[in-house]
Amino acid sequence: MADIVDSVLSLLGWKLPFRFIYSSEYWMVDLGHHIFPIKKYRLLYERVIALGAWHKDFIKAQPATEEDLLLVHTPHYLKKIRSSSLSSIELQALELPFGPDVVSFFLLMTGGTIQTVEEALSTGLAVHLGGGFHHAFPDHGEGFCLFNDIAVAIEKMKKLGRINRVMVVDCDLHQGNGTAFIFARKDYVFTFSIHQMDIYPSDKPRSSLDVGLWSGDDDRAYLQALSPHFPRLYQEFKPDLVIYLAGADPYRKDMLSGLDVSAEALKKRDRLVIESARKLKIPVAIVLGGGYTAEIEETVNIHLNTIKTAIKAWKKGLNHW
Ligand SMILES: [Zn+2]
Repeated sequence: MADIVDSVLSLLGWKLPFRFIYSSEYWMVDLGHHIFPIKKYRLLYERVIALGAWHKDFIKAQPATEEDLLLVHTPHYLKKIRSSSLSSIELQALELPFGPDVVSFFLLMTGGTIQTVEEALSTGLAVHLGGGFHHAFPDHGEGFCLFNDIAVAIEKMKKLGRINRVMVVDCDLHQGNGTAFIFARKDYVFTFSIHQMDIYPSDKPRSSLDVGLWSGDDDRAYLQALSPHFPRLYQEFKPDLVIYLAGADPYRKDMLSGLDVSAEALKKRDRLVIESARKLKIPVAIVLGGGYTAEIEETVNIHLNTIKTAIKAWKKGLNHW
């Protein structure tokens, strides 16, 4: 029966052209009164349903295994997490209330990004309604990030022989310090990060290419800084996978942003990064990131814009593999 309904929806053009990775457990962790907008995951899921997503359009996120995490994180760090023996300095750097439900949340998020990358490699494009925890280092967590889901997913695909060269396009407001550090000496990963310079992280390990913006930079400055690099970097590095961290926090109304960037400019950013990869037939795995507006719906709208842009990119006849 579900297949018939799916077919009817598909004939009517309502079926979405790629799948989403998600778990209803994403928004069940209780962070108390915290700036991290955990409810955005459920709200975004509901908006994707409203776009016409059917149950088959979702892949349920499964937790990453210890073996997966060890591809990036140190045994010592994982042991401290398992035994809840992170020091007060480490907990302070993490900036999250620590407990078993937080650990479960990050295990799921990391597994979800692995599945997103697998799906993108199989079908050309997939969206994780989560992920993007780019501040986690091999031996410690920082800035709301316990495990580096992107790095774990890359190393797992590399180990399985599914990829040779990967590009991380990190368009979160904050520099992708953990990811830059992890892949600093690994020439099979190109890390690109466009970010605001005069905010966290104060120490910015070098990415393959860092593009810095400053407080007050507007749409024009943002797009002028970004656009010369795409599709040029794709053509030069020739990745067989792009992981796009579509951060919502460069937005001018974001509480952490000093940039004067509009939602329209962020749509143009999404189109540039996604469409130019798709034109070159490079699979794209999209993960979310950031988003700390006072009205949570504004963050959700920006994430939804990224999804709509991806749908348009796919439907523009770029889905020939
Ligand atoms: Zn951020």
